[in-house]
Amino acid sequence: MSMDEMVTRYREILEESPLEQAAKWKANHPGSKVIGCYPVYTPVEIIHAAGMLPVGIIGGGNRLEIAHADSRFQSFVCSIVKSTLELGLTGKLQFLDGIVFHSICDPARNLGSVFKRNFPQLLVEYIHFPQNMASPHTVNYLAAEYQKLKTSYEQLAGRPITDENLRKSIHLYNEQRKLMRELYRIRRETPQNLSTLETYILTRIGTFIPPEEHIAGLKQALAAAGQRDERPKDRIKVVLEGSFCEQPPLELIEGLEAAGCYILDDDFLLGWRFFEQDIPSEGDPIRNLASAYINQSVYSGVKHDTRERKSKHLIDKVKETGASAVVILAAKFCEPALFDYALYRRALEKEGIPHLYLEFEEKMWIFDKAKTEVETFVESMLFD
Ligand code: SF4
Repeated sequence: MSMDEMVTRYREILEESPLEQAAKWKANHPGSKVIGCYPVYTPVEIIHAAGMLPVGIIGGGNRLEIAHADSRFQSFVCSIVKSTLELGLTGKLQFLDGIVFHSICDPARNLGSVFKRNFPQLLVEYIHFPQNMASPHTVNYLAAEYQKLKTSYEQLAGRPITDENLRKSIHLYNEQRKLMRELYRIRRETPQNLSTLETYILTRIGTFIPPEEHIAGLKQALAAAGQRDERPKDRIKVVLEGSFCEQPPLELIEGLEAAGCYILDDDFLLGWRFFEQDIPSEGDPIRNLASAYINQSVYSGVKHDTRERKSKHLIDKVKETGASAVVILAAKFCEPALFDYALYRRALEKEGIPHLYLEFEEKMWIFDKAKTEVETFVESMLFD
C-alpha cells in the first residue's frame, strides 16, 4: 500500500468510527479486555502485559453531537471532558472493560468520579501522578501507584502480570515509540516529504489498534516516506505547542499547513510518544516505568517538574529544530495550556521569537477565522 493509500484509509477510520477498531478487536478475541486511556499519559505496558488492549479515549471528534453531557458540566469546561462523557452516555464505550484517568487537571479529575458513578460496570482507575518530581521518594511513590494499577488489572484479566510479560510489553512499546520518533525526525528534517497531517494520522491510528499492528504500519509508512523527494515550498517553519490533551480536528491541522506553515515539531498525542529514549527492560519493570516518567519523559503542561523551566524546553526546541516561530494551539478552556501560555509568551518575547496564539475546540467545523489568522501571521513573517 502506498503512503497516500494508507493515510486515506486511516483518515476514513478516524473520521468515521475509530472506536469500532477496538470493539472489533475485542469481538475477534473472545474473553479479552479493553481498557480506555484518557490523555495525557498512561503506562500502557501494564495493560498490555495483562493481555488487554489499551485504547486512547481522546474525545469524540467533531462529528459527535453533545446532547447529554452539557447538562453535567459547567459551560466553561474543555470539549474533551464533555465529549468523553457523551461517548459513555450514548453507549459508544460499551466495549470497554475499564478506563483510566489521571491527576492532570480538575476537569479530568472530576470526569473520573463522574464515570465511576455513572458507569458502575466499568473498572475506573485513577493515577495520582507526583506533584514533586524532585523528591528522592518520587520514584518509590509512583512505583507504588503503578503496583496498585497492576494488581487491579491482574484481577480484571484473571491472570498474573509477570515481570517477563511486562518486559516484553516495554520492549514492544519502546519499538513503537522509536518508530514514531523516526516519523517525527523525517517530518522535522524534510517537512516537504511528510506533512503534519500525515504524521498525525499515522500516529493517531496507533491509539486504537494493537501496538504490533501499528508497528507494522509505521514501518511501511517510514519506507514510503523515505522514497519521497518533494521540492520545499515557500513556507515558514514553526513549532506547535499546546495540544497535548484535547486534539484539534484534522481539518484544522491541514488548514495550518495550507496557510503556509511547515510544522517541524508538535505536542499532539504527547502521552503516546512520552519518552525520547527507550525504557530499560532489565531489572524491576514497574520501577523502570516509574523512573522513566520521572527522569525520561518529555515536558508537558500537565507535568509539574520544577527541575527545569518548561519555557526553556520550548525555546530549546525552537532552536534545535531551526524553526523561526511558534504557534500555540490550545484547547478552549484548557487551564494547563493557558497557564503555560503565560510563561511561554514571556520567554518567546524575551528571545525575540514570534508567536501566534490560537484556540480550538474538537467539535469545530468552521476554520476560516483560524486560517486567516495563520495566513496573516505567515505573511507578516515572509514579507517582514
Ligand atoms: S484539555 Fe486541558 S483542561 Fe481539558 S482535560 Fe485536558 S488538560 Fe484538562
